[in-house]
Amino acid sequence: MWRYIFIEEKRRKCANLNGDLTTMVEISRNMMMSTCNFTDCFKGFDKVGAVQCILGAETEDVLARLRVEFTNTTDYMGVDDFEGHLLINPHYLATGDFTDVYLDVIHELVHVKQFLEGKNSDKKQNYVERPLEIEAYQTAVHEARALGLDENRIFDYLDSDLINDQELAKLAQRLDVKIGVF
Ligand SMILES: [Zn+2]
Repeated sequence: MWRYIFIEEKRRKCANLNGDLTTMVEISRNMMMSTCNFTDCFKGFDKVGAVQCILGAETEDVLARLRVEFTNTTDYMGVDDFEGHLLINPHYLATGDFTDVYLDVIHELVHVKQFLEGKNSDKKQNYVERPLEIEAYQTAVHEARALGLDENRIFDYLDSDLINDQELAKLAQRLDVKIGVF
């Protein structure tokens, strides 16, 4: 089953792009295999301004080479520490809120870029204080705002089983996401 999202990128601030751009991405939600190519599951992401901002001139090549592994070792999505491929929980992909899944892909593509640059998170640091996580969350929040999501919806997006209430508040503050603003 394919789902669609139309992304208006009117507020996109990216040196590569100017003017209005409407992009359509497609995400195949029910993947029955254990691995696939990113482009088998996620279509149109190479045309998304946010993705082009993350991956630059290599966007098409990186996405064409990127593999996806479906695994229950992650509750949502992640990037393999050793090989740099995408890890996705198949249940989350099938049932997660579509916008959340889309924003998670944006978040994870930042980690893919970081992996290609040889950067690895210091796992001893608190999750919400790791600079590489802040960069990934910041990029996803920027995209969420470009999609027109309000601050409460973005706060909901940040809330996950990965972090407790204190960490959520800290993360929202760090990302300048304002709670209770409509
Ligand atoms: Zn992350």
